[in-house]
Amino acid sequence: MKGNRICDLFKIEKPIVQAGMIWCSGWELASAVSNAGGLGLIGSGSMYPDVLRMHIQKCKSATSKPFGVNVPLLYPDIEKLMDIIVDEGVKIVFTSAGNPKTWTTHLKGKGITVVHVVSAVKFAVKCEEAGVDAIVAEGFEAGGHNGREETTSLVLVPQVRKAVKLPLIAAGGIATGAQMAAAFALGADGVQVGSRFVATHESSAHLNFKNRIINSNEGDTQLTLKQLTPVRLIKNKFFQEVDAAEKRGATKEELSALLGRARAKKGMFEGDLDEGELEIGQVSAQIKEIQPAAAVLEELWSEFKVRLTSLRQIQETL
Ligand code: NDP
Ligand code: NDP
Repeated sequence: MKGNRICDLFKIEKPIVQAGMIWCSGWELASAVSNAGGLGLIGSGSMYPDVLRMHIQKCKSATSKPFGVNVPLLYPDIEKLMDIIVDEGVKIVFTSAGNPKTWTTHLKGKGITVVHVVSAVKFAVKCEEAGVDAIVAEGFEAGGHNGREETTSLVLVPQVRKAVKLPLIAAGGIATGAQMAAAFALGADGVQVGSRFVATHESSAHLNFKNRIINSNEGDTQLTLKQLTPVRLIKNKFFQEVDAAEKRGATKEELSALLGRARAKKGMFEGDLDEGELEIGQVSAQIKEIQPAAAVLEELWSEFKVRLTSLRQIQETL
């Protein structure tokens, strides 16, 4: 897409970024998206340092196109992950769930393009001060970790657009070309898509989780654990336990104990649909099929163009 700020920044063909998602986006998904003309991201939050290095190396041999790594700053071993990213010559890093000031200067000093994910305007302003190259504005509809303010994409994106001049990627609630066109209407230069890419052949999510997604209905997900780190989950047995605990006034410590360890892995990677944590967006209700990642990208792109044409037709009637 000529003249598009996101395509120019990353040197990609279509302004569609595949979100970095723990346990779901390894090298196979990232390289498939990049090969199809979008930007694939390896989700490093669930990776031990050696695992991340292997995924970067495999991604480099599976694609000659640009790809990046997402680093959620609340996860363990960030210093080691960043050293590997620099050492392996990764050119694009998306940071999330933390302060953009912590890593931006270091990474930019190594010639890396830095993007930070925000859920509120005040964080977007912080990103500009930190010197990032672009911002992802992620609304309340999104899966996984989410903003405390519960601002929807429809409300967040235009406010971020007004507050900062940087290239802007909209995220949260985008799984179709129509939603992509809506994001552009709100002032975005590109979109980040997560949930739809979890239900692809190349995603490393467990087949049970992929099947659960394509059988989802409206209202099947909810934001929970707001006392710890808010996260949007499918309302399964584990969710109901957390919900009941919150309703009886459980303390932070009790909730942490209930969360235990490696719930996200159990649900999304090992496929335990009752005991595991199933992080997915509201758009899961719109996803009806497990597809190849390239087909998802192609569908998003052609629907986007159709939607723009129909908007032009509406304009002609004005
Ligand atoms: P490979 O084909 O090289 O390896 C797949 C490996 O994953 C196998 O060793 C297999 O172990 C293991 N594995 C498969 N399913 C599970 C599971 N449910 N629980 C635990 N282990 C499992 O795959 P990749 O090159 O794609 O991946 C390389 C490494 O990266 C693997 O160790 C994989 O687990 C990890 N990975 C991590 C992701 C993350 O988000 N943290 C995402 C994708 C992969 P066995 O043969 O013993 O069953
Ligand atoms: P946990 O803290 O429950 O467990 C760590 C998971 O990350 C394990 O599955 C582990 O894999 C994997 N892992 C990957 N790299 C490392 C590493 N370098 N050191 C240790 N473990 C690693 O993980 P969560 O994903 O649930 O949460 C991650 C962070 O987010 C934690 O700091 C947690 O406190 C915070 N948090 C998460 C919430 C949530 O909803 N998940 C809510 C509130 C806070 P393996 O099992 O193979 O060892």
